[in-house]
Amino acid sequence: MRYEIVCGIETHIELATNTKIFCGCTTAFGGDPNTHCCPVCTGQPGSLPILNKKVVEYAVRAGLAIHCKINNISHMDRKNYCYPDLPKAYQISQYDEPLCEHGFIDLDSGKRIGITRIHIEEDAGKLIHENGFTYVDYNRGGVPLIEIVSEPDISTPEEAKEYAEKLQLIMRYIGISDCKMQEGSMRCDVNVSLREVGTKEFGTRTESKNINSLNFILKAMYAEVERQTDILESGGTIIQETMRYDDVTDTISPMREKENSDDYRYFPDPDIIRFQMVQEKVDEIQSSLPELPFDKLKRYVTELELPELTAKQMYKYRRVTEFFEASLAQGASVKNASNLITGIIYANLNTEEDKELFEIKTDAKQFAELVKMYDEKKINVKMAQTTLQQMLENGKSAAEFIKAEDLEDISTDDLVTWCQEAIDANPKAVADIMAGKDKAINIMFGHIMRQSKGKADTKQAEAIIKDLINKGI
Ligand code: ADP
Ligand code: MG
Ligand code: ZN
Repeated sequence: MRYEIVCGIETHIELATNTKIFCGCTTAFGGDPNTHCCPVCTGQPGSLPILNKKVVEYAVRAGLAIHCKINNISHMDRKNYCYPDLPKAYQISQYDEPLCEHGFIDLDSGKRIGITRIHIEEDAGKLIHENGFTYVDYNRGGVPLIEIVSEPDISTPEEAKEYAEKLQLIMRYIGISDCKMQEGSMRCDVNVSLREVGTKEFGTRTESKNINSLNFILKAMYAEVERQTDILESGGTIIQETMRYDDVTDTISPMREKENSDDYRYFPDPDIIRFQMVQEKVDEIQSSLPELPFDKLKRYVTELELPELTAKQMYKYRRVTEFFEASLAQGASVKNASNLITGIIYANLNTEEDKELFEIKTDAKQFAELVKMYDEKKINVKMAQTTLQQMLENGKSAAEFIKAEDLEDISTDDLVTWCQEAIDANPKAVADIMAGKDKAINIMFGHIMRQSKGKADTKQAEAIIKDLINKGI
């Protein structure tokens, strides 16, 4: 029997608002346990939630970025369940009137993954198991979340990973979350089922919850597909349950039988009135969205004519692209600016996070001044690179490191003299060159570069050296 995979992903993303969804407590990560709390977010009787406007705006921003329809009228529901991480015994979420619906994300292959809905809800507290006791920290309780639910359009583990990666990139770009999977500000629930190739009906699915890395999405799905295939091939049936993926052992095992939405007894929260998102506000948010990453990538390659590799090194990091584009606006050339960014600046930004934050000591204006000197061949590549490195270390402009004499062109006469000196000092290299070993010429460049303070053009020097050698024969 041959099976095909059906997969849909639910993604929880913590919104980067300063305060929680229904109270004024801070959303800052960490802090001593139960210090970021108040009567509202710990569900004390008589306390009343007030919906944070920013949360609604951020969720709409997310919706528009992935082509959703925004429901102007929306409301909150209570999702009832009893667990110590949730002191009210219900979570305030959205059920039948989510804020956003019917969006999509396109994969590189051109395949479109539908987005069913995006709703807003509150995060729960965190249980800490220690010394045989369980403690609870409510600092995270009431932190605003959006849940983005995909259609079951995903057909392979690779597509699942790409979907989550693209979603993460878009959400970071529009500034609603840092989407750090390892810190839990983005978590994926991966729903997987199998069906016989050629059949229409879906098989029973399982849900691997709270996956906290892109690679684990891939691995958890491989493990789950293998497990379900084994069951089906041996004549068994799949039970709808919640799975836990253990990344240490790379295994997947059932956690509990999955509850259905009926089990939660959803009903409209009577404490929070229905709310309206006026169309003018939606339009305002739409027009405040930055150019989205994949549009930018396409534009870099087609309009700026950047090599795809270079474009791909830059487009992911919004601040890098802003810096790059600002330097172009100041007159820097696309080619030299992009090469210096991905060469020298990136060499100073080791991690993904460093590139994301892009905290450097120079600004686009100073950078553009340097690139223009290089564009106009006033300085050579070596000098452009060392100067940029100094600028990054000291925060001063290029003029501080380039002396007037550095900008003077070297004369051809001088260059011929230095080439002759290099020839005289390296008879072995001359013999090698005459024997056709062109690489031997590199040995001579050291002298020429020293004499010219790095300004000599190696192509020109090479031509002169060959010419002198030929004349000498
Ligand atoms: P719940 O909220 O109970 O988890 P939903 O019906 O909202 O259930 O679906 C959650 C996710 O599961 C969605 O991303 C959806 O695309 C996916 N899904 C639903 N049915 C299947 C199935 N048979 N196989 C794989 N994924 C599925
Ligand atoms: Mg679910
Ligand atoms: Zn609070």
